[in-house]
Amino acid sequence: MSALNKIIAAGFTLAMDGNDLVIKPFSKLTPNQRAFLKSHKAEIVAELKQQQAGNDADTFDDRHYCHECTRLVNGRCVVQRFKPTDDIPRRCADFVVRVLL
Ligand code: SF4
Repeated sequence: MSALNKIIAAGFTLAMDGNDLVIKPFSKLTPNQRAFLKSHKAEIVAELKQQQAGNDADTFDDRHYCHECTRLVNGRCVVQRFKPTDDIPRRCADFVVRVLL
């Protein structure tokens, strides 16, 4: 278990505010937890930044797989009339999100 996951499992939330590490509820940290955070800060900050970068990439990625599109019927695109190789996401002006209920 990573240092970040250990402190989360102990009931804390962690986030980056610029270059500052924010821990809530800070007042609930025991002296041992504070020492743990101090000695693992670099590892925790790196993991949080990596997670944030992943979240940012997901937020701004406007590509989709054809299997996520209602216009893919039996493996064929009914709008563009071809059978797409659906191994990478694409930007498509005709994309309509498939809603799964
Ligand atoms: S409309 Fe675009 S995204 Fe949808 S199946 Fe056809 S090619 Fe894929």
